[in-house]
Amino acid sequence: MSRRLERLPVQVDPFRLAQAGRVFEGEIPLRQMKRLQPLLYSHGNTVRAALEFGIDSLGVSFLSGRIQAELEVVCQRCLEPMGMTADIRFDLAFVHQAIEGESIPEPYEPYVVESVPVTLTDIIEDELLLFLPPITRHELEVCPARNRVQMKEPAGKDTAKQAEEQRHNPFSVLANLKTPNKVK
Ligand SMILES: [Zn+2]
Repeated sequence: MSRRLERLPVQVDPFRLAQAGRVFEGEIPLRQMKRLQPLLYSHGNTVRAALEFGIDSLGVSFLSGRIQAELEVVCQRCLEPMGMTADIRFDLAFVHQAIEGESIPEPYEPYVVESVPVTLTDIIEDELLLFLPPITRHELEVCPARNRVQMKEPAGKDTAKQAEEQRHNPFSVLANLKTPNKVK
């Protein structure tokens, strides 16, 4: 690649970066990702990100990226730590309004830019939140709480209700994903 790699900026104008075809690589501490915090057991690691902005032959302003991180999330069954490796590739197309996003071709996901600048960490955090399953749980065989669960299982009703409550929180995080600029 002939283009120069740069350190990750904090605040960006995605349309200008696309125009300039900028390429970035760097690390971001998980600590900076406030929406991700409640789902993590430990926050000491960093996220590695490689990002390429550009404009494709159809005139789409895009960001192609790869994010890698070792996450330690909380198992929702035993509340103990659980390691997860995130290796995410994504392609975003920047649009000014949601309605423009409807005409965005594959493989892009539309990203509505409501105001400039955009915090680059927010985009990366969105991808990590989308990557995590609605409920993070060990496989039952390796979960320290497996014995308790197996004893309780026939109760049925309570377990279902608990699962419903656990589901609630991560989903409300996801619901806010596509409007990262709305609430500050
Ligand atoms: Zn567990």
